[in-house]
Amino acid sequence: MIPFIDLPHQYELIKKDVMKRIESVLDSGHYILGSEVGELEGKLAAYVGAKHCLTCSSGTDALSMAFMALGIGPGDAVFTTPFTFFATVETIALLGATPVFADIDPETYNIDPVKLEEAIIRVEKEGKLTPKAIVPVDLFGLCADYDKILPMAKAHGLYVVEDACQAFGATAPCGKKAPNLGTISCTSFFPAKPLGCYGDGGAVFTDDDELYARMYSILVHGRSANDKYDNVRLGLNARFDTVQAAVVLSKLELFPNEVELRQVVAENYRKGLAGVVPVQKIPEGNISVYAQFCPRSVKYAKIQDALKAADIPTARYYPIPMHLLGAMKYLGYQRGDMPVAEACASDIFALPMHPYLEAATIEKICSIIAETVK
Ligand SMILES: *Cc1c(COP(=O)(O)O)cnc(C)c1O
Repeated sequence: MIPFIDLPHQYELIKKDVMKRIESVLDSGHYILGSEVGELEGKLAAYVGAKHCLTCSSGTDALSMAFMALGIGPGDAVFTTPFTFFATVETIALLGATPVFADIDPETYNIDPVKLEEAIIRVEKEGKLTPKAIVPVDLFGLCADYDKILPMAKAHGLYVVEDACQAFGATAPCGKKAPNLGTISCTSFFPAKPLGCYGDGGAVFTDDDELYARMYSILVHGRSANDKYDNVRLGLNARFDTVQAAVVLSKLELFPNEVELRQVVAENYRKGLAGVVPVQKIPEGNISVYAQFCPRSVKYAKIQDALKAADIPTARYYPIPMHLLGAMKYLGYQRGDMPVAEACASDIFALPMHPYLEAATIEKICSIIAETVK
């Protein structure tokens, strides 16, 4: 089998450096919030141009910290996409707020700003829930349509919590980088994400001093600014491991080049699949970090079988849209409510994607797909 995401290849490139950094953490004895954590936060904030970065234990906890800091809870409506990983929606629902879905664009797979505004206006008119925030997801490494979403949020008095768990380092047409497009922006360092560690991890980014202070408090059991044992709110234990911070520091050195290499891989895929199957559209001005490369085809099962026979792995993100998941049944959505997300879920599939994927392998993958859909 060729790897779906080639982490061993990357490890070979950083092995010496990463081992040295891990050893230095172990030697230091500072396992919780050691100096690597602060060093990494400074570098990540600078990379995306945010004032503050706070690392934490996962992308899921990053989202929870953001929602908690914004005071999101029961009675609040939080607008988001039905086509995402469950954590986006789970964290909203865990706080007792109500996820409100708006359908996606069939080409970018990201939330459709027209449907989003319709949903906001509908909830405003109904008057049952308080519209609080929009949670755009930068799916597969492509920024959502912030040129439309940010003015909309302002007009309706809503916060924007960017879920950039798949999109660290992506560039939006306005020139800003993810995760720095929301009131608070979140990312994940899960190993398979474009910038990963060797375990679980995540981070929040914001330009707002007050929100940053609140998230720091939440990160450490709701502590007060100057006393760890004076707990002024309910929080979490969501600190990022110092050892994992050392891993991300090492990988960050490769990262800019990896983003370039991902562009080459994606371009090769696009050429090979032109006229064969539609792939995710990257609108003008965006630079995706290609967490995944996902075409659509009703023949996806046949394609997966043909690729598997050639030792090429595939995956499916996401086979069930959020509004149809068992855990979300209480919201009362029906099949047919989000037709574009449902269509996407029924025919999308993911191809091997990583910076070190060779042109010859891509050519082989594309020719198998072309042969299968013929
Ligand atoms: C991976 C992911 C998350 C959760 O990140 P973890 O670090 O695994 O907790 C949230 N949202 C999206 C869109 C993701 O892809």
